[in-house]
Amino acid sequence: MLANQIYFDHGATTPVHPQVVIAMEPFWNETYGNPSSFHRTGMVAARAVEMARATAAELLGTNPECIVFTSCATESNNLALRGAMMAERIAGRGNHLITGMIEHSAVLETARQLRDLYGFELTVVPVDEFGRVSLTDIEAALRPDTVMISIMAASNEIGTMQPWNEIGLLARSRGILFHTDAVQAVATRRWDLTIDPIDMMTIAPHKFYGPKGVGILVDRSAAGLIPNQTGGGHESGLRAGTLNVPLIVGAVEALRLAVDDLATRVTHVTALRDRLLEEIPAMFPDRCIITGHPTERLSNSASFAFRELSGNDLLIHLDIAGIAASSGSACRSGSPKPSAVLEAIGLGPEWTSGGIRFTLGRQSTGEQVDYLFAVMPDIVNDLTRLGHNLAAAAVQM
Ligand code: PLP
Repeated sequence: MLANQIYFDHGATTPVHPQVVIAMEPFWNETYGNPSSFHRTGMVAARAVEMARATAAELLGTNPECIVFTSCATESNNLALRGAMMAERIAGRGNHLITGMIEHSAVLETARQLRDLYGFELTVVPVDEFGRVSLTDIEAALRPDTVMISIMAASNEIGTMQPWNEIGLLARSRGILFHTDAVQAVATRRWDLTIDPIDMMTIAPHKFYGPKGVGILVDRSAAGLIPNQTGGGHESGLRAGTLNVPLIVGAVEALRLAVDDLATRVTHVTALRDRLLEEIPAMFPDRCIITGHPTERLSNSASFAFRELSGNDLLIHLDIAGIAASSGSACRSGSPKPSAVLEAIGLGPEWTSGGIRFTLGRQSTGEQVDYLFAVMPDIVNDLTRLGHNLAAAAVQM
């Protein structure tokens, strides 16, 4: 099967940076030891992991002991939520968790499981028409037994940045843990956790030109997380299992490169994103709206909803035209169900199946955007005509 020539789905995943591939190379079959082994081959691998940990900590403004390597962001979110809630309960500090309505399912499903199977109390705060959580709602949800707030830094589906800084400050002022799923936002700003009021932060290197199969949880809390995965005591007892040395090295090299090219990459993708946000709704004035916040949004994400059109049909036709996009989050692309995120921002059923997201990257170009603009009108008009014909045929039957 041919790959898409134009890739506008960097929110789902990115290609691996050539320098990341080079950095990982020696750890497959040269320095392949198990970092837990007590011999030189193992110790060299262990040293590579510890150097990666120290680099990640330095890049994020934290201590190496706060960096936990996991297998993916989903696992990091699970460890943060389940690990912290269990620890807080055992310590007798409380039982109540607050999260948001448009969190990624790795947070929402974990939070619901904590409520439904483990008897924790859960408040899911709503979002406004731009997908933003309000500080007032969070404050109103606080209870004496609240021990944790988990709000994402930015929405994977509609790109809205959440007021994570204000929420973190509020949590800190009340002695409550604050976790942020920063998967989509990590590579869009310089984080300094000596200042940023975040106790736990989830990172997925494959969203910024690192490998898949590795995640990071930054845990600055003193909660003493209860591990989700028990065994040989790896990662200071927080995540048992032999460390995946090549992927860990690659993950941190990707983070280093993302910090290195931050300004040029963000400037580049913002200019392309703004063209999309301006032109696409203008092409279809009565049929297409921007979803997410007009300004407080990810620099690489342009998302829209089309009225009475299926986002999945759009995706298929874009794919045929050689363009890879997404109908929302990578996990629910292709799902026939209306988008829960579009419902949460108050859109009616005529819009909620018509979500589409273009996420740009280092290699995206103005010519690619021009090509998208050239093919969009025919695709949307053909799908509209088809929809009308099907509706007319249904009436006659
Ligand atoms: N959180 C957010 C905001 C995401 O966008 C994603 C993936 O798209 C995840 C968590 C889960 O990442 P992974 O599937 O790599 O575990």
